[in-house]
Amino acid sequence: MQTDLVAALDIGGTKIAGALVDDHGRILLRAQRPTPAREDGNTVMRAVEAVLGELTAAPLWDRARAVGIGSAGPVDASTGTVSPVNVPGWRDFPLVERVRAVTGGLPVELVGDGVAMTAAEHWQGAARGHDNALCLVVSTGVGGGLVLGGKLHPGPTGNAGHIGHISVDLDGDPCPCGARGCVERIASGPNIARRALEDGWRPGPDGDLSAAAVAAAARAGDTVAVASFERAAQALAAGIAATATLVEIDIAVVGGGVAKAGEILFAPLRRSLRDYATLSFVRRLTVAPARTGTDAGLVGAAAAALTRDRDVSPL
Ligand SMILES: [Zn+2]
Repeated sequence: MQTDLVAALDIGGTKIAGALVDDHGRILLRAQRPTPAREDGNTVMRAVEAVLGELTAAPLWDRARAVGIGSAGPVDASTGTVSPVNVPGWRDFPLVERVRAVTGGLPVELVGDGVAMTAAEHWQGAARGHDNALCLVVSTGVGGGLVLGGKLHPGPTGNAGHIGHISVDLDGDPCPCGARGCVERIASGPNIARRALEDGWRPGPDGDLSAAAVAAAARAGDTVAVASFERAAQALAAGIAATATLVEIDIAVVGGGVAKAGEILFAPLRRSLRDYATLSFVRRLTVAPARTGTDAGLVGAAAAALTRDRDVSPL
């Protein structure tokens, strides 16, 4: 028997990926375009339409029953609009309506990219089998999402679990969001590199100023590089512990480019968690690296569409 499929869109500041996905999370067809992030809103939308055009032209499209979108945020699922920070041409852009117009009126589910990654990890990754989980994406920014009571919890606007903008340093540095001392301001890749540079770390001959270069230096024993990761881990731990205390999660899954630092991040993260997650009901909290890879956004967008208005997880 031929099963139903969902169309998935993963919209970020550098690429727009699309796919047809089955109810086991297998990707049967893909399409991709670069995001013309500096162009006006309609030009960006034409790139989305080009991706969708490849999908709708395929014979498999006849089996598509819904569309799931994971987008760089902020998103507003209640109005179907998106305002991605790194796509200035889209402010309150009516993405859901525009996607519905080119996909034959299929139901469209919109979530933020952190929530999409969470859906993917709960379906196929490290949060699988956990009814209460926080998933984090630590890269250029810090995003996240929640699984509560066995279900994805996107919240009314699709942004719940956005741990990057919890303040963990009351009088800390101003964050681009307008607050102070946010987790992201301390733990994102660019901030790990910035702090290392300020404290005297210097890049190698290749001039690589990324968090990955700081991680390599930390692995080689550079104490300033190690300290910058420890500070990031401390901020993440404080945010994770706060979340666990509020809603009783039992696992925190950490993905994104910065998580590729491996134990350089995870060892101090586990240590710091012992300092902040102290109450009896959060002490058993574990931390695990994300398992879904570069397709997490697509698989998660598909999962969000498949679980729409349903009380069960996809297969
Ligand atoms: Zn912030």
